[in-house]
Amino acid sequence: MTERIPCRSADCRVTILPRTAEKTGGYCMPCVQNRERLEREEFIRRNRRDVNLYEGITDPVEILKIMCERRVPDPLIRYTAYEKTAEELYASLSGADAERMQAYAAELISEDELDITEDILLSLVCFRGIHVHDCLPALIGKGRYYPGILFRQAPSAIRDFLLDQVEKDAENRNFLLLALAWVGDEAVAVRFNQWRETPPVWAGELYVPPHRYSLEAGWVLNGEGSRSDLFYKECRTFEKGTPSGVEPAALFGETGEICRGCGNKLTVLFDLDLKHPSLRFLDMEGERLKIATCLSCTCYDFLFTDIDGKGGSGWSRYNPVPAVSPVQEEGGPPDAGERPALRFSGKERGTYYAAVWTQEPAVASQVGGHPTWIQDAAYPDCPGCSAKMTFLAQFSWEDADDYGEGITYAFVCKDCQVAATHFQQT
Ligand SMILES: [Zn+2]
Ligand SMILES: [Zn+2]
Ligand SMILES: [Zn+2]
Repeated sequence: MTERIPCRSADCRVTILPRTAEKTGGYCMPCVQNRERLEREEFIRRNRRDVNLYEGITDPVEILKIMCERRVPDPLIRYTAYEKTAEELYASLSGADAERMQAYAAELISEDELDITEDILLSLVCFRGIHVHDCLPALIGKGRYYPGILFRQAPSAIRDFLLDQVEKDAENRNFLLLALAWVGDEAVAVRFNQWRETPPVWAGELYVPPHRYSLEAGWVLNGEGSRSDLFYKECRTFEKGTPSGVEPAALFGETGEICRGCGNKLTVLFDLDLKHPSLRFLDMEGERLKIATCLSCTCYDFLFTDIDGKGGSGWSRYNPVPAVSPVQEEGGPPDAGERPALRFSGKERGTYYAAVWTQEPAVASQVGGHPTWIQDAAYPDCPGCSAKMTFLAQFSWEDADDYGEGITYAFVCKDCQVAATHFQQT
């Protein structure tokens, strides 16, 4: 057996073969690698320089172009972050600058930079609230029919093309149906209604009937076969910070009632002052709307509460009582009573500002507007009248806590005075 010798590092107990010692000057391989790593880090520390790509640039379009450039990571360069986020820049673009940005996206399509294009177009649609129809022909030319929201209210020529394509393009049918749902005009409603009455031959290949794709764009066919929206156009938002005093939209109030599913206390997720100017758009009868829920049980299913316009909210007879009490999953929502550091700003923003989850709006919590689905759209059926319930508000757990995850959504049926909540996460 060859004799092993100890590594020369003072605090290392590894022994090595003489052959290794000859090569490394008496050190074990981990010690050699560790020294090399430290030397590399020291080299980077001494030679790294700060690079500010935004220096002297004031044009927001030029700044956004730099932000979305692809850059090969270089350990010797530390890029200075711009003082504003892309979201803030997009939200404040003038109409002319938004058009310049769309023109830039069009250039990128011809260069096949479709992922960057997608990010720019989604930012324009969500944060700036504009249509990006000028880019649609080029996207279609590349066989790219998503994300559907880019097609919102697209002109009739594009709609007719999609209606034709969806019949013959099996590979892209899912995307084409989503795009059509977002076009969402009368002709689409007519076609969806025809499919509802007589399902097309290809309907069996889909997970949901084709007319149900409308839900992803926030609408449903009513009894007459035309479009009914399931959300409010107006949208009012929250902001980070501790609430001070009474707010027109308060979060996480207490209620004495106990969840009959699990025995935990119910939480008033939203407490809304219906007479407040910033919330009158909800057009709900009464003065005060409270939506209570069990933060645990709503992770598993829709949870219904009976509401009134006087601040009452209680366990609804429509909830099935589970046979086995559910157990709160680890990583699920925190306990009720921990008030989130989020307050209602009452600021208005575009209907679709937070509609695309992957655009990561700084604050997703809102009253009104289009919901931010993390998974598939999930509007509950009202247990009273079986109609789809309207989206009213959402609370994003990420807004209030760095480790928070997921969104809790609230819905109402005004006719039946029933509210529902639902939770989604990745
Ligand atoms: Zn060693
Ligand atoms: Zn419960
Ligand atoms: Zn109802």
